Amino acid sequence: MSRNVKELSPEELCAWLAERGEAGYRARQIARWLYARGAESFAAMSDLPRPLREKLAASFSIPRPQVVRLARAEDRTRKLLLALEDGGRIESVLIPAELGERLTLCISSQVGCGMGCAFCATATLGLARNLRADEIVDQVLEARRELLADAAAGEPQSEITNLVFMGMGEPLHNYDAVVRAIGVLTAEWGLGISPRRITVSTAGLVPQMKRLLEDTRVHLAVSLSATTDAQRRRLMPVDRKYPLETLLAACRELPLPRRRRITFEYVMLAGENDSLEDARRLGKLLRGIPSKVNLIPFNPYPGSRFAPTPRAAIEAFRAALLRQGVHATIRESRGREIQAACGQLAAQVA
Ligand code: SAH
Repeated sequence: MSRNVKELSPEELCAWLAERGEAGYRARQIARWLYARGAESFAAMSDLPRPLREKLAASFSIPRPQVVRLARAEDRTRKLLLALEDGGRIESVLIPAELGERLTLCISSQVGCGMGCAFCATATLGLARNLRADEIVDQVLEARRELLADAAAGEPQSEITNLVFMGMGEPLHNYDAVVRAIGVLTAEWGLGISPRRITVSTAGLVPQMKRLLEDTRVHLAVSLSATTDAQRRRLMPVDRKYPLETLLAACRELPLPRRRRITFEYVMLAGENDSLEDARRLGKLLRGIPSKVNLIPFNPYPGSRFAPTPRAAIEAFRAALLRQGVHATIRESRGREIQAACGQLAAQVA
């Protein structure tokens, strides 16, 4: 059976080429075709000698995930439901900014998720498996194909400007594949996306947070969503392993690049974590950490047992943070009616 060529790193491809008496620089050329140009066959790699193209085609394949469904929301947010080779399903979401040029792609790192957060639809699936690095990268390639198809159909040309690991799964629970994917996404021979335009969001796996900032230059977002351990434990079981004190002490010591801040995500749940008392505690917890808070209005999903905090109360919470000198924004929920917003990804076909 032929191997998926995207499972090889350029170094591995280099070794394969060397064994066959081919020049090592071909590996980068091939990688550029696969990632930068999204080639679908070796035959299309027109600047490779024909015998090499034939050798590659005899040994490797260039499989793609299948786009099972493409949903479009009124606000132009689009959700791609992808089927993997083993039948596993994941979702990615393309989110155009309401104003300006920004176009964010939200990608998944696992099939399902094992973190068990009480307010998240993905948690109800449990963890099926980790994605491989190539399956993470494929989400970007498929989203880019959608954009190219749009452009071919006469829509304005648009390019993905930002990537967020905020889809299904806990990226730091699949550390090696995520870091390897970031390598491809940021490489000049790969997707060429600046690490400053990539954000990895975690429920708070402390040891991997530190490693991530040592191994890459991406942004880190930490899902906090509570201001006491009693509260956080009810919402996020990970708090039992890494309680607030441990988590925030680690944040204080992270090797952040200069002028970088950690984003703290905070899902606003009516009557659970949204009082002004919480806002005051949050301000205190974050003291001394270069941080900004992103308040996320709760997005309901079938079977969810929480209610969203009313808009006015979210604004009051934000104002209370600002008064304490904490930089805080409110995330505008996008794509709700197609179940594409934060915490709604459950890979349903219907
Ligand atoms: N596992 C990672 C990546 C998921 S990111 C993490 O926990 O950070 C998804 C973000 O959406 C997280 O901040 C999460 O707390 C938030 N979220 C989850 N369910 C939500 C919901 N129903 N409504 C709004 N935000 C939600």
